[in-house]
Amino acid sequence: MSVNLLIVEDEPAIVDVLAAYAEREGYSTRWARDGEEAVEAWSEAGEGVFDLVLLDLMLPRRSGDEVCRYIRARSSVPIVMLTAKGSEADVVSGLDAGADDYVAKPFSPRVLMARIRAHLRKNAAPQLGLKNVLKLGSRVEIDPNRVEIRKDGQPIPVTRNEFLIFSTLAAPPIRTWSRDDIIRTALGDEYDGFDRTVDTYVKNLRKKLAEPGHENGWIQTVHGFGYKIDDSDPAKP
Ligand code: CA
Repeated sequence: MSVNLLIVEDEPAIVDVLAAYAEREGYSTRWARDGEEAVEAWSEAGEGVFDLVLLDLMLPRRSGDEVCRYIRARSSVPIVMLTAKGSEADVVSGLDAGADDYVAKPFSPRVLMARIRAHLRKNAAPQLGLKNVLKLGSRVEIDPNRVEIRKDGQPIPVTRNEFLIFSTLAAPPIRTWSRDDIIRTALGDEYDGFDRTVDTYVKNLRKKLAEPGHENGWIQTVHGFGYKIDDSDPAKP
C-alpha cells in the first residue's frame, strides 16, 4: 500500500527536509504552501486519498486551525500539527481544532517520521480494549470495527484519538483512569502528550456527546485522580 502525505507548510527549507525523509520511507508527498492551497488540495483529492496530514499552525491566507477544522469536518484522517516550541496555547488550539498530535518546531525529522509511522500503524490496527459494539444507555454505541461512535444510529464526528480515549474508558471493567494511564493505554507509549491534552480531548468529547441526563458526555471527573465512564441510566431509578 502506498502512503500519501499532505504537507502544509510555508517554509520551503522545512518542506525540502520533510520531502527527503518521506521519500526515504517510500511515502508520496503533496506540498501545499498556504492554508488556501491546503483546502484546495484536500477538496480536489477528496476523502481517502491522503493517509496523513502534516499541518503547520502558522500559515499565510488561512491558519492551520482553520485548515484543521475544514479537514476534520470531512474526515478522520490523522492530522499532525507543527507548533511553536513550548507553546501550550498552540497545542491546545491545535487539539481543539481536531488535530491528533503535535510536534514542536524546531523538530528532529527522524523523530517526526517515527511519530508519523506510529500514527499510520495505529490507523491500520487500532489498539483497542474493545472487541464488540458497546452500548451506553439506549442511544450511544461505540463500534471498534468501524472506529465510530454513534448516537441514535448516526456517527458522531470524533477524531481518532478521541475515539481511542472514549473506547478505552468505556471498555469493561469500568474503572477510574488517571490521565497518564489514559495516554499510555489509549494512545501508546510513543505519544508524548502532557496531562492537559487529555483534558482537551475530554472537553471535546463532552461537547459532542452531551445529552439530557448525561451533560458530562458520559465522562465523569474523579477529582484529584482522573476520569471514569459514567454509564448510569438517568431513566432508571
Ligand atoms: Ca509557518
